[in-house]
Amino acid sequence: MSNQNTNSRALFERAQAVIPGGVNSPVRAFKSVGCDPIFIEKGLGSKIYDADGNSYLDMICSWGPLILGHSHPALLENIEEVFSRGTSFGVPTHQEVTMAELIVSAYHAVDMVRMVNSGTEATMSAIRVARGYTNRNKILKFEGCYHGHSDALLVKSGSGTLTYGVPTSPGVPEATVRDTLTGRYNDIEMARQIFEENKDEIACVIVEPVAGNMGVIPGTKAFLDALRALCDEYGSLLIFDEVITGFRLDFGGAEAVYDVHPDLVCFGKIIGGGLPVGAYGGKKEFMSIVSPLGPVYQAGTLSGNPLAMHMGIQTLNYLKAHPEVYMHMEDKAIHLENELSAFIESNNLPLSFVRFKGMTCLFFKAGAFSSYDDVKDCDTEKYGEFFRIMLSEGILLPPAQFEGWFLSEAHTMQDIDYLISKTKTVLLSMY
Ligand code: PLP
Repeated sequence: MSNQNTNSRALFERAQAVIPGGVNSPVRAFKSVGCDPIFIEKGLGSKIYDADGNSYLDMICSWGPLILGHSHPALLENIEEVFSRGTSFGVPTHQEVTMAELIVSAYHAVDMVRMVNSGTEATMSAIRVARGYTNRNKILKFEGCYHGHSDALLVKSGSGTLTYGVPTSPGVPEATVRDTLTGRYNDIEMARQIFEENKDEIACVIVEPVAGNMGVIPGTKAFLDALRALCDEYGSLLIFDEVITGFRLDFGGAEAVYDVHPDLVCFGKIIGGGLPVGAYGGKKEFMSIVSPLGPVYQAGTLSGNPLAMHMGIQTLNYLKAHPEVYMHMEDKAIHLENELSAFIESNNLPLSFVRFKGMTCLFFKAGAFSSYDDVKDCDTEKYGEFFRIMLSEGILLPPAQFEGWFLSEAHTMQDIDYLISKTKTVLLSMY
């Protein structure tokens, strides 16, 4: 890295002594891209600034929550006043009601919603509801989809587990994952076969409608329709994990874009505006079995935290009032796709640029991508080299091949042009 990085290096040294790997989430260690992490001091708009004063165009955006970019005025409005009224009460607040009403207004599938503190909690709890409702134990997920780090879901998952090659983590008891069935993403026949082999035993199917944890791979409409139909046929619940796609693809998320209606939906990221959050919801029929209405237990000391709710409400209200944000994000993503796809083709590079709505990813492999099988042999070494050079040029890409490039409203077309031009120059220097 040509940037000065003395302070980040010193912080990493200190961190490694007291935090496993020096980081609080594995991907932040930059291990798979072969360099040390930078430590961030602040963010503004589309840029972040590290502990040495270097600035970067931020293509991570906190892995999705910051759809409006860093420190957006709409997010900062009233925050001090909210803060000064107290940070947590452990009894209900009006913000929780407003947040629930916003989510319910956006999703046809959601009549009721329960706030939690992370996407992991959301998926874990939604599965508990599905199991409680159906009185069945088995769940079906898809290879390469990541649904957080709860035991039952840490099977053939994407994201950091792909990068580090640990499809199933030590510490996850075999008994816990015995009921986790795994299908191939976008493979309708395989899903049908799994249902036929496990008749009356599958509580639910959980799926990322657009997979964002094995790079970006959109589920086909036919696949999601087929999952809906299979769930109906076999009495299972369909869970959309919209922790990334919720309020990102559209204000109504993947449910609206695909016009496929799940039974339960999991949220996170955007609905907290950058503070810790998660939520799961669905029709009354399913959510009314959640405690204290029903017997399925789920709780949380900080769930519905007023600060997180405030940031989430501000974000959602802004998105609701400015639907053009989605058009802007898609326009920027299309520009990126057009430029980079043409460049890849004209230079005959072994790469592919994938886009769905405003979600994008550059795969270091040529070809088409429809499942984990297509991504697993991407050239991660080359991606690491690319990442490091881009970082030295002031662009922070996801420090792993199997993650999307996150756009925000704060990214300008000039930012995107800069990203395109640096990407082209760097790739030409590498091939
Ligand atoms: N589901 C999806 C689709 C995710 O991308 C993630 C995290 O990236 C999660 C669930 C877990 O969310 P969290 O990291 O908030 O626990």
